[in-house]
Amino acid sequence: MSQSIAVIKGDGIGPEIMDATLRVLDALECGLNYEFIDAGLAALEKHGTLIPQESLDTIEKYGIALKGPLTTPIGKGFSSINVQLRRHFDLYANVRPAISFPGTRSRYNDIDMITVRENTEGAYLSDGQEMIDDGNTGISVIKVTRQGSERIVRYAFELAKNNGRKKVTAVHKANIIKTSSGLFLDVAREVAKEYPEIEFQEMIVDNACMQLVMNPHQFDVVVTTNLFGDILSDLCAGLVGGLGLAPGANIGEKAAIFEAVHGSAPDIAGQKIANPCALLLAAAQMLDHLGMNEKGDAIRHGIRAVLETRRDMVTPDMGGTGTTDTFAQALVEQV
Ligand code: NAD
Repeated sequence: MSQSIAVIKGDGIGPEIMDATLRVLDALECGLNYEFIDAGLAALEKHGTLIPQESLDTIEKYGIALKGPLTTPIGKGFSSINVQLRRHFDLYANVRPAISFPGTRSRYNDIDMITVRENTEGAYLSDGQEMIDDGNTGISVIKVTRQGSERIVRYAFELAKNNGRKKVTAVHKANIIKTSSGLFLDVAREVAKEYPEIEFQEMIVDNACMQLVMNPHQFDVVVTTNLFGDILSDLCAGLVGGLGLAPGANIGEKAAIFEAVHGSAPDIAGQKIANPCALLLAAAQMLDHLGMNEKGDAIRHGIRAVLETRRDMVTPDMGGTGTTDTFAQALVEQV
């Protein structure tokens, strides 16, 4: 059975890395039909809005989108499309794998962990809701609900269960922020009881930062609230050599959107030197999500092999002398 997905090529380097990614997906014969939809600068020019209703409708219809990076125009009146999409589809889980690849500037090898960040509540509420600011005092509100905590912790355990992972670590600050972080931890403990086969660990966020830097191999799946997840997932990306190889998924009940963590890189757009790996790894996450785990693994193994053996084909940011196209070509030959 073929699966249709919505594809946003994106701004800046988006179309270059999306073309490379689709070439590899086609070589893998995933049976995907692509419906290209407008968003970002291209949509603004054509439709006068960064994300037209018909694009939202297409994502809703298929429930899956692969998204290139989008430029948020500077200036008032433009809110981030990523935030708009997250709110529109209630994409509550931000799932960010951090995997070591050869040839990256990194202190550690063999890191293979996933951060699951709650994406809809915590310290990040709708515009204006979170602040009392009289010019002298700013007060922000942190909102944690039982339902929001339950679904994110359950998502983390299900992810662990379905991917043969052994351990889930709930990261919190319940010792100080007792009401909200405390509720998250209570719920995490309750949900953990439903998964006796998976080890459950709890860790205070400051200790988690130190442990991640000193001994990252102890982590497998980390689940946490919005603000801590924002910080920890970038820390984890740094552990494996930066944003160039960092994919992310935003997952809800109605839709799941897969993307590179990096932006549209206007400084190198059009030069054909953009590294397509982060978007490719996002596509691998998408294939896992669609139950095509073997094809997802083929992408990950392919990237590893090409980085190890075909330095002439990989992009300059990875120390190679190739282009986006040669990188894609090497991967097509590898998978
Ligand atoms: P950026 O991630 O686009 O670029 C940061 C640096 O990393 C640049 O030097 C760039 O050349 C390099 N880089 C990024 N991706 C690369 C790749 N695949 N290969 C090689 N080098 C790469 O961050 P920025 O410059 O702060 O943002 C540019 C635009 O992207 C902004 O409009 C921002 O709003 C947008 N943005 C979008 C997303 C998204 O859609 N998910 C995320 C972050 C930023």
